[in-house]
Amino acid sequence: MPLAKPFVLGNWKMNGLRADGEALALALVERQQGAVRKGTLGICPPATLLAPIHDLLAGSGILLGGQDCAPAPAGAFTGDISAPMLADVGCRLVIVGHSERRHGHGEDDRLVRAKAAAGHAAGLLVVLCVGETEAERDAGAAIDVLGRQLEGSLPDGASADNLVVAYEPVWAIGTGRTASVEEVAAVHAHLRARLGVLADGGEALRLLYGGSVKPANAGEIMAIPDVDGVLVGGASLDAGQFDAIYSAGQGAADPVSSRR
Ligand code: PEP
Repeated sequence: MPLAKPFVLGNWKMNGLRADGEALALALVERQQGAVRKGTLGICPPATLLAPIHDLLAGSGILLGGQDCAPAPAGAFTGDISAPMLADVGCRLVIVGHSERRHGHGEDDRLVRAKAAAGHAAGLLVVLCVGETEAERDAGAAIDVLGRQLEGSLPDGASADNLVVAYEPVWAIGTGRTASVEEVAAVHAHLRARLGVLADGGEALRLLYGGSVKPANAGEIMAIPDVDGVLVGGASLDAGQFDAIYSAGQGAADPVSSRR
């Protein structure tokens, strides 16, 4: 799937009953109508809202995604949702390896890799999250940890058309603390170089930053050449804030498009 900068993806997490979820989706569709903006906008509502929101997004250009998927396509896995199920309900992408799955549900790189492969088998764009904890950063181990996560969870056949990497420092998610521009720039430059080695054409993969992105800091983050967009949690639950984040990325240059 060709993705243009800025790629702004909202992760609603476990938020939204039918009435407020649909109202939020409709508010985003209204803001898209008549607005000529570059880039790619997507949302990942909870699984219970995917079907009704898919219908509301029709013709808006907003991509629909799942927040996670099972490694198996079907079977006796109570409570799980498979990648083919997400595709069947109209999803175009799936997040895997979010820190709330890695740390809250004990998911390791092997499982994340299997989930990413399942997403690809179902024809979904995979948004693969990596990120170090505060203790790992304080110990000077961030780059090592990120390298291990990337190598361990990157599926075979990853390319700029089927995979996006999201750098989400665990200490910045939902905390109001954002990594500095210098920290994000250094990590993203490193990730792009590693991806160039690990995947065919890997330097053209889209890289997102995530962690307490708000309208006030989105512009400077997306101005970093190796940042192609942002993964947004809390602020994606407010149509005005989410839309303002998308607008804040409009002026950013897109060096990656010339690499593709
Ligand atoms: C996230 O959950 O991916 C995230 C970045 O959350 P927040 O924006 O709330 O920090």
